[in-house]
Amino acid sequence: MAKKGEMLYAWTNDANLAKKAECGGAVTELLKYALESKTVDAVIAVTRGVDLYDAVPVIVTDPKALDQCAGSLHCGTILLSKLVTEYAPKLAGKKIGMVVKGCDMMGVLELAKRKLVNLDNIVMIGVNCGGSVSPVTARRMITDKYGVDPNKVTKEEIDKGQFIIEYEGGHKGISVDELEEAGYGRRSNCRRCKVKIPRQADLACGNWGVIGDKAGKATFVEICSEKGATLLSKAVAAKKLSTEPANPKGIEIRAKVEGAMYKLGDKWRKHDFEALAPVLWETIAKETSRCMKCYSCIDKCPVCVTLADKFKQPSLMIRPGVLPADQMFHLRRFAHIADSCINCGQCEELCPSEIPLALFSHAIRTEEDRLFEPKLGKSAYTN
Ligand code: FAD
Ligand code: SF4
Ligand code: SF4
Repeated sequence: MAKKGEMLYAWTNDANLAKKAECGGAVTELLKYALESKTVDAVIAVTRGVDLYDAVPVIVTDPKALDQCAGSLHCGTILLSKLVTEYAPKLAGKKIGMVVKGCDMMGVLELAKRKLVNLDNIVMIGVNCGGSVSPVTARRMITDKYGVDPNKVTKEEIDKGQFIIEYEGGHKGISVDELEEAGYGRRSNCRRCKVKIPRQADLACGNWGVIGDKAGKATFVEICSEKGATLLSKAVAAKKLSTEPANPKGIEIRAKVEGAMYKLGDKWRKHDFEALAPVLWETIAKETSRCMKCYSCIDKCPVCVTLADKFKQPSLMIRPGVLPADQMFHLRRFAHIADSCINCGQCEELCPSEIPLALFSHAIRTEEDRLFEPKLGKSAYTN
């Protein structure tokens, strides 16, 4: 029986799935087993839509259909946690399995704090996350920096610090640092993100630390809960998955990469917040003057849930039919999420007026953390 805290290499025993999967197929196999064994009634995962820039969330109840979800879409910037509340009436009383990046996981935890979901009914299979690229940026970046038609790209991956594309006629990788220096690369919230290994999920899966003959062929799994240990052990006993202890050198490498990603997150926080700190409120006023009150930032925010409808109601200080939206519209929203913004970036990603909303709310959240946790240091803007 696998135990909480163990680190393993795991891979699917299904050769067809292994070909489609990102690296080992343990995530898909575990979710399939969870459905087959009725550990869960449904799975929320992601599948490729019209092209590889189009990540589509799906609810799956047929284990075989999960093969369509195998593989990672780095240009898929969706957040799955809010979907749980959207699907809530259908899922009431059901047990669900989910694939969660760090931000998806934090979103689910915020919903649980608000008693909108019951964690006992959710199995979270976490995936490590170095970051995702907005589909619009990805297309522009592939055209400008790679000199390739984005429609001709058949596969993308992030490996050893490079964003690599395969396309008709070849493949090409450019370092993520170089792309980001040039204004492309990961979304700005992902650059500041420090939840790289989602250890509050039941299992944390990734490719960091898989070395030797298993490199590219196995998933690195860290067991984070008893629920995760039980699911994995049963899937192995049912001969769906094979495992071996993770290579100690691989464990060391994974820890080093995680440390380096933390430092990079700090670097970007310093870069983004220091420039903003002296002019935060002026910048907010200027940028939000483009707001057209479409309410996307409210509708998709995983934290802005219980009061979401209230925010849309007009008041003396938020006049109906007035554009741009009165300042109070934004101030009220920022205040509401100041202590719980998870920096998932959905508000910024979906804002049609391209207002850097996640930057503002993340800066405010970081500063607020400093007030309540003095050990964070003099200025959270540099933490
Ligand atoms: P598979 O069996 O292929 O299953 C992958 C699962 O991921 C599928 O269920 C699919 O629904 C889901 N998925 C695909 N795209 C998304 C998405 N955009 N959002 C949510 N779910 C999605 N691992 C690392 O060790 N280091 C990294 O830096 C890293 N960055 C990642 C960035 C992103 C955006 C994603 C999605 C994953 C990242 N991973 C990273 C995890 C890694 O790519 C694999 O998902 C993981 O190793 C599991 O491999 P697997 O073969 O078991 O997965
Ligand atoms: Fe990944 Fe963090 Fe970006 Fe979410 S916010 S996609 S966990 S890097
Ligand atoms: Fe305004 Fe942008 Fe929010 Fe829409 S998403 S309400 S335009 S700030």
